[in-house]
Amino acid sequence: SAPAPADSTASSAGSSTAASTGSGSGGGGGAKVGVILPDTQSSARWESFDRPLLQKALSDAGLQADIQNAQGDTSKQETIAQGMIQSGAKVLVLAAINFTVGAQIESEAKQAGVAVIDYDRLNLGGSADYYVSFDNVKVGEQQGQALVDCLGSKANARIIELNGDPGDYNATLFKQGYDSVLKAKYSSGWTKVGDQSVPKWDNAVGGTTFENLLTKAGNKVDGVVAANDGLGNAVVTVLKKAGLTGVPVTGQDATTQGLQNVLAGDQCVTVYKPVQQEAAAAAKLAIALAKGQDPGVTTTLNDPQGKRDVKFVALTSFPVTLKSNLTKPFDDGSVKAADVCTGK
Ligand code: BGC
Repeated sequence: SAPAPADSTASSAGSSTAASTGSGSGGGGGAKVGVILPDTQSSARWESFDRPLLQKALSDAGLQADIQNAQGDTSKQETIAQGMIQSGAKVLVLAAINFTVGAQIESEAKQAGVAVIDYDRLNLGGSADYYVSFDNVKVGEQQGQALVDCLGSKANARIIELNGDPGDYNATLFKQGYDSVLKAKYSSGWTKVGDQSVPKWDNAVGGTTFENLLTKAGNKVDGVVAANDGLGNAVVTVLKKAGLTGVPVTGQDATTQGLQNVLAGDQCVTVYKPVQQEAAAAAKLAIALAKGQDPGVTTTLNDPQGKRDVKFVALTSFPVTLKSNLTKPFDDGSVKAADVCTGK
């Protein structure tokens, strides 16, 4: 059977416009803000978490939200952006499919006098003035450290790394993070027996890729770095099919499925990134930018490709394992216990 595709938590794949008129009470003055999400096959987060949270945060801020999903199609993402610019959006909140199309959208927006906020993913070589995300190297470190903890004192562990799309700069940062932790292990007995990126983070493709890597490794693996919960679940599915049990697998996003896998002992960790904070931070920036005000962000991040510094709102992520932060996504209201613990 084919490996499981994207997380089952993905709600109906929305490419449609979800508009709402802000009350104005949040001070946004009803300005239009366009939000463009990347896809539905790389992670359940975009439709399950980001869409509803951004919708709420923007309308609470008194802004009019137009949220669309590019369905993994770069030209569609550009067309959506052009449509939003033409229809009078003052600000774009952009989670680009890759940074090349992201930078292109930014230059078109800039020409039209529309501000862009890089949302979660930094567009290398782009021109956005603001970036809202997490410390993504840290996210990778949390994944790597959890894997090390799950494997305990195991010597000679054979590891496979299944990375995100390098066209998403986050994938590079995550890898930097987990490789920095695993480096010491690789030089003292552990072996990397597979290391591959998954184009567009496609979860189904990730399953096939992992299946091939596992075969090449002679069906012998002791731990897997999967860059997010969608890829992690694809790996878990392949491992089960191969009859391999007790192999720790990483993830991130604290999706319903990722948390279920952690609770079942199939995933060693998911990294929880409070998207409610990310959405709120983007909405706060959008209000200021729509009014032409300086949002007063002082932290910056270097864009190595554009050789510039971008103003960066950096949020904190949490590793969730059976031993740490297990209740945090529930306590924060990010997921409901009834959705995760379905009794199946
Ligand atoms: C995000 C992750 C997400 C991945 C795939 C990354 O840029 O930071 O949260 O799982 O993209 O969509």
